[in-house]
Amino acid sequence: MITQEQVDLIRNDPVAKGSLLIGGDWVSSRDGATLDVESPINGHALTTIADAGAADVDLAVTSARAAFDSGVWSRAAPLHRKKVLNRIADLIERDQVDLAVLGSRDNGTEIAFSYNAEPGSAAATFRYYAEAIDKMYGQIAPTSEDVLALVHREAIGVVGAIVPWNFPLMIGAWKLAAALSVGNSVVLKPAETASLTLLKLAAICLEAGLPEGVLNVVTGQGGKSGEALGLHMDVDVLTFTGSGGVGRRLLEYSAASNLKRVYLELGGKSPNIVFSDAADLDAAAMVSCLGIFRNSGQVCVSGSRLLVQESIQAAFVEKLVACAQGLKLGDPLDLTTQMGAVNSAAQLSKNLAYAAGAVADGADLRTGGAQTNAKSGGYYMAPTIFDNVAPSSRLACDEVFGPILSVIPFKNEEDAVRIANSTEFGLASAVWTADLSKAHRMVRQIRAGVVHVNTYGGADLTVPLGGHGQSGNGYDRSLHALDKFTNLKSAWIKL
Ligand code: NAP
Repeated sequence: MITQEQVDLIRNDPVAKGSLLIGGDWVSSRDGATLDVESPINGHALTTIADAGAADVDLAVTSARAAFDSGVWSRAAPLHRKKVLNRIADLIERDQVDLAVLGSRDNGTEIAFSYNAEPGSAAATFRYYAEAIDKMYGQIAPTSEDVLALVHREAIGVVGAIVPWNFPLMIGAWKLAAALSVGNSVVLKPAETASLTLLKLAAICLEAGLPEGVLNVVTGQGGKSGEALGLHMDVDVLTFTGSGGVGRRLLEYSAASNLKRVYLELGGKSPNIVFSDAADLDAAAMVSCLGIFRNSGQVCVSGSRLLVQESIQAAFVEKLVACAQGLKLGDPLDLTTQMGAVNSAAQLSKNLAYAAGAVADGADLRTGGAQTNAKSGGYYMAPTIFDNVAPSSRLACDEVFGPILSVIPFKNEEDAVRIANSTEFGLASAVWTADLSKAHRMVRQIRAGVVHVNTYGGADLTVPLGGHGQSGNGYDRSLHALDKFTNLKSAWIKL
């Protein structure tokens, strides 16, 4: 539990300048370049971070490779790696309040949500993969009697991890804990507008006994350090969460360099489908409302397209509007806030442009559509609902990544499936119905990595998260994530 007193005690603490972590040392970028970091809560300067360039990335990759080749971590006993990862989880929990406050100051997420979703989830992730390490066995292949064939699972080498700003600790931990658990070294590139908690996590990793060089962090601009990591000839795997546009660039980098593996967890435009026979329409409206407006809609799996059966459209939209208008929006560091700040001025402008475009396209603006709390100096947008959005309009097809819900009516099951599958994405979805057979039919027909039934969100570490279609190609979470960070090697032994 976190209390308001704990938050208020540290909410204005000065934030140390961020450095790069290379080979176990905290260093400046070689050319001394830095970036200013401001808080989306009020637009005030928070600190600076190092703006790494290609030379820094090269040093980081070299140090990661040296650590890997030394075997200090890659060949350490699984029990030792387990102990260190569990210690990392302990230390994240020790610092959970600090991490949550720092994260909300850096990226604007409401702390009542981020306390568990960010450091809480990161600790659970390190524990999950710590516990997996000494329960993984190789295989003996079913060969003929005169042969013994063994299938080993090995760490790959140097992993480049590039993460976004919306849940830096949670997503960073998904990649770091899984990659490190099996013995890889990592070079991590956080997002420019959400590096601070990952720098603190890196310090925790060192404190917990992760050997120097096994984890390296290069902060700065995607077009500089991210590109250099993507193009580096000695990176074996890229694991990325972010937009489809940057994902495409990473595939190009791989093709232009060493054909490194590229795993992409990309965006979504997830359909949340409400049938007239849903058992509890009030609950459906409440969960759907939080499912899009939490973290100001900056959630890859948010249900940003609400498909509602025509017969209940008017009444259901009333419920959604009432919920949206009742949300407490404001200071992310107030524990009663349900919707905090948008991550940056640029993201706010993008959201507002989408809202203006939807009005021009003829969608019915039912609530929101504008900036709010402008006097704070921060970046806030009112929860926004558009009704009768055309399924082929920009608002219905593009990932806005903001607090904007598109309501689209449908006639029947077939119609719902057609509209649900009509975007390029396939990340998440939901179906609300009391008809079990209908729910199962929808699960089979919707193109998405997850179909929630009679709820939205809430999936945990035990299940994989990944996209279909242009939402990506790999899985975070669960034991399936380990496939990204391991090679299979067989030994064929003539007896
Ligand atoms: P983004 O713009 O694609 O950036 C993601 C990361 O890539 C950042 O660290 C960014 O650095 C870096 N980057 C930017 N340009 C690059 C380049 N040319 N080469 C290499 N790296 C580069 O995405 P975002 O705006 O941070 O995050 C929002 C997106 O992430 C949304 O599309 C959302 O759906 C997606 N997402 C997906 C999942 C999932 O699990 N599928 C989860 C969360 C978010 P800078 O910060 O310096 O630009």
